[in-house]
Amino acid sequence: MPQIIDLQKDTPTLKGVKMIVGDGLCSNIYVVGREKATIIDTGVGNRLNPVWPQLKELSIEPENVEKVVITHAHHDHAMGAFLILEKSKPKVYVHDKDSKYIASSLGESLVVVEEGDIIETELWPLEVIWTPGHTEGGMCLYARGPRILFSGDTAFPDGYFGRFDGETGSIEDLVESLRKLAKLKVDAMLSGHGVPVIRGAEDNIKLALRNAELYG
Ligand SMILES: [Zn+2]
Repeated sequence: MPQIIDLQKDTPTLKGVKMIVGDGLCSNIYVVGREKATIIDTGVGNRLNPVWPQLKELSIEPENVEKVVITHAHHDHAMGAFLILEKSKPKVYVHDKDSKYIASSLGESLVVVEEGDIIETELWPLEVIWTPGHTEGGMCLYARGPRILFSGDTAFPDGYFGRFDGETGSIEDLVESLRKLAKLKVDAMLSGHGVPVIRGAEDNIKLALRNAELYG
């Protein structure tokens, strides 16, 4: 069963943020708040990553799931949303450019967002930052107050960055997106795969930019 990490243990600004660690190729799942929780990325939604048992362990019942945000429409981030929708009725936020891949399956739950949109959560507002490169409609979510960045598959720990060889990937776009992220004040970076970066994430993003520029 996937492991759950209470991120506030090491970082007070991450109070109320929990991480369900993605097993294998599954994305990490982040849970913001509890009574009216926002779930950022949903994992692959298979037998090894069943989502609801972990949410229940966090005392989150179907009526507590208010919003789901999918950083991009790859199946390892998005398919868990359909497990969530089996029991609950959250709105599901997807960037405009990636929404066409899952719009028909999401129906009325879908909320299409774009650069600069704000997604309110129980804890703080999340700003949508459009970061194409890994996919055309990839996005990061930025909590400006506590300086937390949910970086999806755009930036990873240790200066790694997302693959750009997918169907709608582009190294030029990815470099531009990392440039955009490198201008933000970021302490904690919570990415779609890998371990959380809980402080000094700005340096991590700048390193990812420098590394990506070598390919661009
Ligand atoms: Zn991906």
